[in-house]
Amino acid sequence: MNGLRGKNVLVTGGTSGIGQAIAVRFAAEGAHVAINYRRNSAEASQTDELVHQALGQCMHDIEAHGVDHILVQGDVSKEEDVVQMVQDTIEKLGGLDILVNNAGIQIAADSNDQTMDQIDAVLNVNLRGAFMCAREAIQHFLAHEKPGVIINVSSVHQIIPKPRFIGYSMSKGGMQNMTRTLALEYAGRNIRVNAIGPGATVTPINRAWVDDPEKAEMVLQHIPMSRAGTSDEMAAVTAFLASDDAAYITGQTLYVDGGLTLYPDFRTAWSSE
Ligand code: NAP
Repeated sequence: MNGLRGKNVLVTGGTSGIGQAIAVRFAAEGAHVAINYRRNSAEASQTDELVHQALGQCMHDIEAHGVDHILVQGDVSKEEDVVQMVQDTIEKLGGLDILVNNAGIQIAADSNDQTMDQIDAVLNVNLRGAFMCAREAIQHFLAHEKPGVIINVSSVHQIIPKPRFIGYSMSKGGMQNMTRTLALEYAGRNIRVNAIGPGATVTPINRAWVDDPEKAEMVLQHIPMSRAGTSDEMAAVTAFLASDDAAYITGQTLYVDGGLTLYPDFRTAWSSE
């Protein structure tokens, strides 16, 4: 894709699932990559092992493309971490051109039982965290009077309600208007802001149905293309939106969902015949 070679990219939540695929894809396009990770080795040994496995794989794939890569630790829900993480990226890579807001979590419970801690936890990562990262990136783009790109990894659930995941639905709905508002505000200063809207994608966030054949079948029945998406498919569209091939696109969400947002229940007409 045009215009990615030599660019400096920061990917939040870059050690797992979609974020990892995005980091590797940018490296494959010749970009320098800062991989944000949250958890550290002081945590439980299983978590530690998983993070290191993910990191190891990610670093190995990136090294194969011979580009610069760094790890930047930070919790995107904490302002001081975000400021430090973006600063580290700028210092170590020599600047920042592309931010990918990918880090995300979800918490399931009936809405009437959700605690405010649960709601805050999801909003703080998915929405507030994404905004703080965007703000820091935009400050850098403006200070250096250079073009910049922000890609938000949103979800089909920015427009499809997701019962029992109210915090997630609220965060992704908010992300849509955050994308549009920032895009409008900075369009005149050469900063593009877009989002991808993944449908059901095989990653650790979905282990509840990915590992259960019965539940997986139920999920696939809802998808017009009858299959889940892959992290690589999400990464390809992210790279496209960040590239110069998408130079005239801003404020948009590109759904990468096998048709999930096409009202699948209307596959056969039932309302007028
Ligand atoms: P995943 O495998 O669970 O990865 C989520 C990543 O976010 C992990 O690397 C995680 O790091 C990181 N993260 C979580 N909280 C963080 C925090 N406070 N600070 C920094 N990083 C944090 O999930 P995924 O499926 O790849 O999801 C990636 C994005 O895609 C999310 O925004 C999600 O909403 C979106 N999405 C996914 C799907 C899907 O079907 N998979 C569909 C639509 C949208 P730790 O492990 O260290 O916490």
